Amino acid sequence: MAKEMERIRELRAEVFGGVKRAALGFYPTPLHKLERLSAELGVELYIKRDDLSGMSLFGGNKVRKLQFILGRAQAMGCTAVFTYGATQSNHAMQTATACRRLGLKPVLYLVALVKPDEADLRANLLLDRILGAEVHIVEQLPGESEEDAEERSFAMAREHMRDLEEVGMRCCEVPMGGADAAGSAAFAEGYLELCGQLAALDKQADFLFHAAGTGGTLAGLVAGRALLKAAGLPGGETDIVSINVSEKDRDAYHRKCATLSCEALAWLGRPERVEPEDIHTDARYFAPGYEKPNPAATEAIRRLARTEGLLLDPVYTGKAFAGMLDHIARGEVPKGATVVFLHTGGTTALFAEREILGPI
Ligand SMILES: *Cc1c(COP(=O)(O)O)cnc(C)c1O
Repeated sequence: MAKEMERIRELRAEVFGGVKRAALGFYPTPLHKLERLSAELGVELYIKRDDLSGMSLFGGNKVRKLQFILGRAQAMGCTAVFTYGATQSNHAMQTATACRRLGLKPVLYLVALVKPDEADLRANLLLDRILGAEVHIVEQLPGESEEDAEERSFAMAREHMRDLEEVGMRCCEVPMGGADAAGSAAFAEGYLELCGQLAALDKQADFLFHAAGTGGTLAGLVAGRALLKAAGLPGGETDIVSINVSEKDRDAYHRKCATLSCEALAWLGRPERVEPEDIHTDARYFAPGYEKPNPAATEAIRRLARTEGLLLDPVYTGKAFAGMLDHIARGEVPKGATVVFLHTGGTTALFAEREILGPI
C-alpha cells in the first residue's frame, strides 16, 4: 500500500497545507495494535492515541482542534480566549493549557453539574486553577435544565467579553468542545493521519469507534472519510461508530453533525458534502447520563487496564470502549475485522469526584 500511503499524504498536503495552525501538541499521535485484547476478542484491534497529544501529560482530542481554532484566533489578534464546559471539562482544561502555551489569557465559564469542593479541588478543575485560568463557576439553579444553565453561562461570558473589549482587549470565543468548522476540520486531518498510518501497515479499518459529545470530532472524522471516498482511497468506506456520552435527539444530532461536517469541508474550501444518513451514532451506552458512571464502562476500564496496561476514563472513553466491546460480542463487528478505537483522552477523570468516578 505504499502507493495509497503516498496518495493520502498528497491529499493531506493539498487540503490542509494552507491552514494557519497554532504550534500545539505532538502529531502524528501513535497508532498501535492491542495484541492481547485482539486475541481475546477475535478481531484486529488498534488504538489511535489522541490521549497522547500533549502538551502536558493530560492531552486529548481538543488539542488537535485547538491547533486550528487558536491558529485563527492568533491571526485575528486575540489576546483572551473564552470557552465553556462542565466544571470537569477536558476541553476547558486543554484550552487553558493551550492558551498558556501561546501567551493568551484563558477565561472559563463552567457549569457545575457536579458540585466541586473548593477545599479539595480535583482533576481538571484543579489543573485549571494551577494554570491560573480565570474560572467562573455557574451553578445550576433549582429546576434549571443543563441547557438553560449553559445558555446562561454563554450570556454571562458575552457580557464579560464586551467589558474587556471596551478596555481594548481582543476576545475570542471557542464553543463548547471546540465544535466549530475549524475544530472539526482538524479532525478531518486527524482521520487522514490515521488512514495514512494504517496504509503504512498495509491495513484499512472496517470500523472506527470513538466517544461523541458535542459532535465536533464525529463531524471531522466523517468529513475526512468523505475526502478519502471522493479520492477513491482507503478509509473512504470505514464504518465510523460514534458512541454518545449524553442524551441527544437522534435526528437533530445527526443533522447538526452533518451540517458541521459540511461547514468544516467548506472552511477547507472543499466541494465534498456529508448527509445526516452518513452518521452512525449509538446511544445505548451512556446511561444513566453524562458524568454518571455505569457498570459496563467501569468494567471496560478495568479490562483494558488489566489486558494492556492502558487507561480509559469513566465519562467518555470507558463508555465508548464498552460500546465497542458490546458491538464485537453481538457480532455487529464480524470476527477478523480490523477495528480502530480512537482514544480521545479524559483520563484525569480517574481523579475526579467520586460521583463521576463511580465504584471502580
Ligand atoms: C470532548 C471529548 C470527547 C468528545 O468529543 P466531541 O468533539 O465533543 O464530540 C470524547 N472524549 C473525550 C475524552 C473528550 O474530552
